[in-house]
Amino acid sequence: NYIQIAIDGPAGAGKSTIAKMVAEKLGYTYIDTGAMYRAITYKAMNENINLSDGNAIGYLLEQTDIALIPSPSGQRVVMDGNDISQEIRSNDVTSNVSEVAAHANVRAEMVKRQLKMAASSGVVMDGRDIGTHVLVNAELKIFMSATVQERAKRRLLDNEARGIQSDIASLEEEIATRDKMDSEREASPLVQAQDAIFLDTTSMTIVEVRDEIIRLAEE
Ligand code: C5P
Repeated sequence: NYIQIAIDGPAGAGKSTIAKMVAEKLGYTYIDTGAMYRAITYKAMNENINLSDGNAIGYLLEQTDIALIPSPSGQRVVMDGNDISQEIRSNDVTSNVSEVAAHANVRAEMVKRQLKMAASSGVVMDGRDIGTHVLVNAELKIFMSATVQERAKRRLLDNEARGIQSDIASLEEEIATRDKMDSEREASPLVQAQDAIFLDTTSMTIVEVRDEIIRLAEE
């Protein structure tokens, strides 16, 4: 017997770290939906497509295969046969992804693919619209957040671990800008689902957050 777990929240709240750990503990499939939006953004940028052109990006997406492959070092993102796991985390992709994700047609196609991936197994899916538009019947919905300062601090440490240079002020600004775009867009904006449980993780450790979600899942 398996359930579906939806984890939403603003940028840098620790959703993917936690979702990965919860999935591992429960033996479920982990689906990082942000990676899918990042992948198509990366491709559109490489092909010099105008990111404000939803039709062009929708057309590009139709011809693009995006696979999320579980691996010991975390999930690999493979687009049209190429591993782009590193590339999609660049500052360039990060600062452009919200513009791409705002197109309703792009979102509709992503949701279709996400539902296919989630069919017939236990799943932990993280993103911005999972509880509100993707897994609307998920047995457990979490809306996870933390102060912008704390999220920027975590991103800084995360970047350091990946060997990416960054400073705290620009991280705070990038996170705040992305949150604003994600919350104010017309197509499925970032908002807490009515039946989601709010978790303020500002002063929680990763293990505490994981265990709280496992506890809720087993209720
Ligand atoms: O989670 P991550 O930071 O990788 O997401 C990157 C961006 O992708 C978000 O800022 C948002 O614009 C978009 N996104 C979305 N819906 C999702 C997941 C991500 O709009 N379900």
